[in-house]
Parts: sequence; C-alpha cells; structure tokens
Amino acid sequence: MSLIVQKYGGTSVGSVERINAVAERVKTWRDLGDQVVVVVSAMSGETDRLIALARKIQERPNPREMDVLVSTGEQVTIALLSMALENLGCPAKSYTGGQVHIRTDSAHCKARIRDIDGVRVKADLDAGRVVVVAGFQGVDDGGNITTLGRGGSDTSAVAMAAALNADECQIYTDVDGVYTTDPRIEPRARKLDRITFEEMLEMASLGSKVLQIRAVEFAGKYRVPLRVLSSFEAGEGTLISLEEETVEDAVISGIAFNRDEAKLTILGVPDQPGVAHKILGPISDANIEVDMIIQNIAADEATTDFTFTVHRNDYERAREILGSAARILAAREVLGDDEIVKISLVGVGMRSHAGIASRMFAALAKEGINIRMISTSEIKISVVVDEKYLELGVRALHDAFDLHLADSAATGSNSASN
Ligand code: ADP
Ligand code: ASP
Ligand code: MG
Repeated sequence: MSLIVQKYGGTSVGSVERINAVAERVKTWRDLGDQVVVVVSAMSGETDRLIALARKIQERPNPREMDVLVSTGEQVTIALLSMALENLGCPAKSYTGGQVHIRTDSAHCKARIRDIDGVRVKADLDAGRVVVVAGFQGVDDGGNITTLGRGGSDTSAVAMAAALNADECQIYTDVDGVYTTDPRIEPRARKLDRITFEEMLEMASLGSKVLQIRAVEFAGKYRVPLRVLSSFEAGEGTLISLEEETVEDAVISGIAFNRDEAKLTILGVPDQPGVAHKILGPISDANIEVDMIIQNIAADEATTDFTFTVHRNDYERAREILGSAARILAAREVLGDDEIVKISLVGVGMRSHAGIASRMFAALAKEGINIRMISTSEIKISVVVDEKYLELGVRALHDAFDLHLADSAATGSNSASN
C-alpha cells in the first residue's frame, strides 16, 4: 500500500463538474488500495476575487486580515470535494491548515511552513478515509491564520508529503507536465518526461509558475518524489528527478520568464568604498528584495552607475527610497523602468558546454531585441529586455536551441558546445 499526496490547482477544481471529476480520480487511486491525502486550491479566480474585494476597502490591506480573507477560498473547496467523495461512497474528511497543525512563521501573506503534525491525518488514513486539506494556509504560534504566497498550495502539498513520508507527491494542474517553456507563450513547447530538481528550482525561481519555488525547495530538502500531471487527461506527467544522471543530457532544459520585474538606475554616484551599501541598504531595510545588480565604472572613473531590479509591486517604493539615497550621495540622476521582463535559459549541461551565451545573444539580436541587463550562474543565463519583446524573445530562443525537438541541438551530444 502506498501513501500518495495529490494536489489539485484552481482550474482543476474550478467548477462543481470539475470537483466531481477530481473526486472520481481520487476514488480510483483509493480503490487501488492507496492511502490518499488531497490538498486543494481555491476554485480558479477566487483568490483574485478576494484580493480585489480587500483592495476596495484598503489600498494596502492589513496582511493579517488579508490572510483571514484569502484563506477562505480553500476552505470552500475542501468541503465541496469531501462531499463529492462521500457521494461516490468514499469516506472523506476535510481539514483547514490550522486543524492539521500546518505551523508557519508569522510572515503574513508569505509565511513559511515550520512543521506539520501528521498524527491526525495518519489516524484518518488508517481508518480508511481520504483526507482533504486546504492548501495555501497555515497557522502561526499565536493561532493566527497565515498564507504561503501565491501558488502556495503546491508547497502545502509537498510539505504534507514530507511530513507523512509519502511515496509520491502528485501536482495535478491544467497542463500535462513541465514544458520546455510556458506552452501559453510558445505553442511548440515540448513536455519533459523528467527534469532535474536543480533545474526545476531555477525554472521556478526565474518565474516559471508551474510550481511554487518553495515547493521545489521542500521536495529537494526532504527528498520527496514530485510529479506534475494533468488533472484532465491520463499520462505520466513530468518527474522532478532527484538523481541527475537519470536525465537526458540536455544542455538547455527550458526557458523561464518573469513579468514581475522592474529596473532602477542611479547615475553618477561617487565611486567610494561603502557606496553599494548606502544605495542598497535602505532598499533591503524596507524589506524589498533585489534581484539582479550591475555596477559600472563611469567614463570619468570618479563616479559609478548602479542598476538593479526589484519586484514590480515594489517599484514605486524602491524608486522613492532611491531618490532619497541619490540626494544624500549627490548622485546625478535616478531612472526607472517597470516595463521590462527577464528571460532565462536553464540547463545543467551549461556547466560543461561553452558558447551558450553567445548563441542566446545572437538569437535575440537577429530579432532586433535589445538586451538591457545580463546575469549568469552555473546553470542559467538571464537577460532583461523590454516587455514588448517577451513573446518574440521566448520563441526566438526556443527555436534557436531547437527545444521543440526531443533530440535537439540543445543536447550535449550535438553541436551546442561550439
Ligand atoms: P494551478 O492552478 O494548477 O496551480 P498554475 O496556473 O499555477 O496552475 O500552473 C500551471 C500553468 O503554469 C500552466 O497553465 C502554464 O501556463 C504555466 N507554466 C509556466 N511555465 C510552464 C512550464 N515550463 N511548463 C508547464 N507550464 C508552465
Ligand atoms: N489559491 C492560492 C492562489 O491562487 C494558492 C494556490 O492556488 O496555490 O495563489
Ligand atoms: Mg499553481
């Protein structure tokens, strides 16, 4: 007998019909003799609807109250799915995050799971029930409801699987696996049978929203076998492989992109020790995360220019803070642009293959796309370009690296090493 954790996202539980279909799928697994824990999201559109409601009352809603509000979406789904399961003669019980002791820190709206007490869930499973848990939510030490950030039900599911030592965590969604890039942007994107955990972590952190980044982190840390599959059709989906050698030796596995970026530049700052700290210190004190950073020596060598990116939601605030820093440092000018995107190539094979960056830049140049920033790490290359070039850029790169072909030029056995 196996213990499986299944997570169904918003689209998969988006209507009564779909909830009934999920119940059928869950029952099929249980009838095979498996113990099943189901983690569900709110019905599609519901979390957005609740956030919009709050914003009609407060421009920057109180985070604690926001969590009380948005966690209700998942509570609706657990009850409806449990009813649907009972209709099929499958005993089920629903629980909120707090009821199964999903304990988090107190960072409202972006809380991190600390631990889960699986005792209650285990007892229900042993009594033959399917356990239906609300994703996205937990409770802090003070008993306050918390939520885990958008897409957080993925993390609830993986954390639950880790706590219960499950045999597999299955993420059911509206695509049948992880693709070489978002199939909504590039219809020629190809489903991957496997992707390494490390690559999936990069893809998620670089903007690919198919899995929440913390879900991937958890899966790696606790070695939870993780699979992404379609809730609408049968198939093997994509396995997030913890064993690197089992994966085909692709140089490039995929392309991620992030539309949530904004860029800020401060020009003509005196080039002295401590200047980076004076610029970025106040930004980090305001709890604003900085992503890419570039520092350039200006032509006069006495001053320097700084450019960095932040989340688009933090753009206005970061710009204000930078304005104050600019006055203190007697900088020449502050510039900003919130119509940019980041596009990234990801692949573990980059470690052993040169020439990927130049091929990437050539493909973008051919389409007349200007690169505004570049950053690289061992297994990824990211560029910042104007937002209007997102689709063209992703498609051009997908094409340049033949990612639509299983046996593509992006594999190590071919010519990517030139
Ligand atoms: P759910 O509501 O089930 O959590 P999400 O919308 O969060 O679903 O994630 C699934 C979506 O992720 C897909 O519909 C797809 O548009 C998008 N996506 C982005 N990048 C990828 C990728 N590389 N492979 C598959 N899907 C991706
Ligand atoms: N309902 C939450 C959201 O829309 C969590 C999730 O679906 O994973 O972000
Ligand atoms: Mg999601």
